[in-house]
Amino acid sequence: MTLLEELAVEAHACVRCPLSQGRTNVVFGVGSPTADLMFVGEAPGEQEDLQGEPFVGRSGKLLDRLVYEEMGLTRDQFFIANTLMCRPPGNRDPLPDEIATCRPFLDKKLELIDPKVVVTLGNFSTKLLLDTKDGITKMRGKKYPFRRGWLVPTYHPAAVLRGGGAAEAEMRADLIRAKRAMVE
Ligand code: URA
Repeated sequence: MTLLEELAVEAHACVRCPLSQGRTNVVFGVGSPTADLMFVGEAPGEQEDLQGEPFVGRSGKLLDRLVYEEMGLTRDQFFIANTLMCRPPGNRDPLPDEIATCRPFLDKKLELIDPKVVVTLGNFSTKLLLDTKDGITKMRGKKYPFRRGWLVPTYHPAAVLRGGGAAEAEMRADLIRAKRAMVE
């Protein structure tokens, strides 16, 4: 077993916070364990909880399409995970305690996968990984030095679904920024 597989086994047994009581599945993350690119979202929704895989609902379909159109990549070519591995009830926002409790799993994924570029999707992962209180609207539009490469914040695809054309154009620009950062 690889270290990442061992971490997944540990995650599937996790009862470190109360979200473990209500989950159907732990959503550890999927994709290439040696990817140069990793996306970090917020938390599993209903479909993700049922299927055990991140971004399989409407947001995920949009994400897959935009990533393919702007970066030419499919899911087997990157890794995708979330700030939380278990679904918050009713899709409420993650609580600070939950984020702090789940963080060691996210940090270990970053260490083991060691991507060159991390794209954070929305407020929660952006604030967590860039250690900032500023929101996504302020933070997006540029890249930040992160680990061995770069972090590129962008909107959560659910916000693009709500926000329409302007938000989608900005997300596309962020994905192009991430693609360029992969070769810098
Ligand atoms: N939204 C997220 O942030 N993550 C998912 O996996 C699904 C929806």
